[in-house]
Amino acid sequence: METRDLSDHRPYSAGRGIEEVARELGLDPDDLVKLSSNENPHGPSPRAVDAIEAAADTVHTYPKAAHADLTAALADRWNLRNDQVWLGAGGDGVLDYLGRTFLDPGDRVLVPDPGFAYYPMSARYHNGEVDRYHLDKANGFTQTADRVLDAFDGHRIVYVTTPHNPSGSEMPLDEIATFARRTPEETLVVVDEAYGEFTTGASARELLDERDDVAVVRTFSKAYGLAGLRLGYGLVPTDWASAYERVNTPFGVNLLACHAGLAALDDEAHVERTVKTVRWAREYMRTNLDVVTWESGGNFVLAEVGDAEAVAGATQQEGVIVRDCSSFGLPGCIRVSCGTREATRRAVDVVNEVVGA
Ligand SMILES: *Cc1c(COP(=O)(O)O)cnc(C)c1O
Repeated sequence: METRDLSDHRPYSAGRGIEEVARELGLDPDDLVKLSSNENPHGPSPRAVDAIEAAADTVHTYPKAAHADLTAALADRWNLRNDQVWLGAGGDGVLDYLGRTFLDPGDRVLVPDPGFAYYPMSARYHNGEVDRYHLDKANGFTQTADRVLDAFDGHRIVYVTTPHNPSGSEMPLDEIATFARRTPEETLVVVDEAYGEFTTGASARELLDERDDVAVVRTFSKAYGLAGLRLGYGLVPTDWASAYERVNTPFGVNLLACHAGLAALDDEAHVERTVKTVRWAREYMRTNLDVVTWESGGNFVLAEVGDAEAVAGATQQEGVIVRDCSSFGLPGCIRVSCGTREATRRAVDVVNEVVGA
């Protein structure tokens, strides 16, 4: 028996985990600092942890009410109708739902290069074809409507990441609006705001009141510290909001995730503390790393180090795991997530030492 043709598909290459690296190097996991996956350095919201514990003995039930409650809380927060909030298993799950909703076999999508690997993966799962628009390193990875329009050729879905992973660059809301206006009605602009909490830039949520060809993706994985639960959501226009019922995986968001998400939403202090640490760490890295870095709106900084694979390998030997950006199409760059003050200082010292050696 043979699978369908998967030759265009690429396995996702994730940031390396602490356990995995510790085992390989024979080190104590407690001596390692993991700054390779843009996770929350302060962990999950304590209220979310309490909510998970409290809900633990109800996991024999399907998460119907909890799903509805979280959807309503998010709709309230974003001032949208309940059906305009699409919960998914991470932002990635939401990307899949949008692919299911819009892609017919052979439809073309346009993704950023460098960019987040799951856009092309998800599009291919849904039998879409992938083209790329280039963000220019020499030009600070600047994101403008013109830059994306240069590569645009009637694509069904165009993915925009702001703040962008891995560069940290942002696409201002007026550029996104211009782009959406200048593309046909049948082109969906997916604005991925996975790092939206870390920027002061306006959310593309604003566009949903006037346009029906924009969707926003957000996640609990980064600022809320719930990456392990797999919880994200889409914000969509009213016109096709009801499609969710036809494309979603039944109970695709688990019960503990729904309860934790609700509690985390209420824990503004935890998000504020996280954002404050991230702002400090971004600034610290940009000031103190002895290599070229780029301004970042996310919870990470991209740094040009020459041979990223070698540098990431060497910092790892010193107990600091960073992300080699070769798989993003940037073999000369590493991405360092914002850690606690202690971890960030250590990462900067180690990277400088390795690069200077
Ligand atoms: C982390 C991330 C996501 C979402 O990740 P989930 O854990 O699936 O929510 C989406 N887009 C980008 C660019 C990301 O970096």
